[in-house]
Amino acid sequence: MSDPRHDLELLANCEEELAGLRKACARLPRDIEALEEQARSARARIDLAEAELAEAEKARRTKEAEIEDSRAQRGKLEAQTAMVKTNEEYHALLREIDGAGARISQLEDEVLELMERIEDLGTRAAEVGKEQSAAEAELLGRAAGVRAELERAGARVDEVTGERELIIPRLGETIARQYQRVAARGGLPVAKILGTSCGGCHREVPPQLINQVQAGELHHCSYCLAILVPDPDADTP
Ligand SMILES: [Zn+2]
Repeated sequence: MSDPRHDLELLANCEEELAGLRKACARLPRDIEALEEQARSARARIDLAEAELAEAEKARRTKEAEIEDSRAQRGKLEAQTAMVKTNEEYHALLREIDGAGARISQLEDEVLELMERIEDLGTRAAEVGKEQSAAEAELLGRAAGVRAELERAGARVDEVTGERELIIPRLGETIARQYQRVAARGGLPVAKILGTSCGGCHREVPPQLINQVQAGELHHCSYCLAILVPDPDADTP
């Protein structure tokens, strides 16, 4: 025959641990999500720096193609100078050739500016990439750690629930029924008296009731209805 007082204490330990584990199981997924969100932000900063660089490189290629077109255009105009018949046509062509030349110079200046910008953006993308990749890896590592912690908490919930299921029937039908009734309300079914208050709802337990519980009587907290277990740290009367 097992000692019901000892079993109730064991149950109180189970309930206490389960309450903590349930809190952890509710909190840890949010922690994981927050870490993964930060990792996504780090990745987004890398992507942004690379996109800025790619955009500048694309702009440079466009300008270079425009330079090629303008040069071809100027070549054609120059070829036409041998075929013009009048002085006016000749001067008009020269003005067009000058115009094309000015356009080419302007585009070449723009390409130079872009090349400077590309160099800066390239340096920055490399810095951001190095820094944020490290941050991302660190955050994902931490998220994986928390995920493992969550899995352990889940496994421990199963273990403790199993232990609890073994203890409850040992309490005898009456206590087991009371226990189930309080548990069904969603409260802590067994709570230790901690100092002078109920470990379940933290409200004051009358001194007389504390004495009775310590003397081995079965009582409930009058607020949360938890079956009260003596304070493990209190001296038995
Ligand atoms: Zn209580």
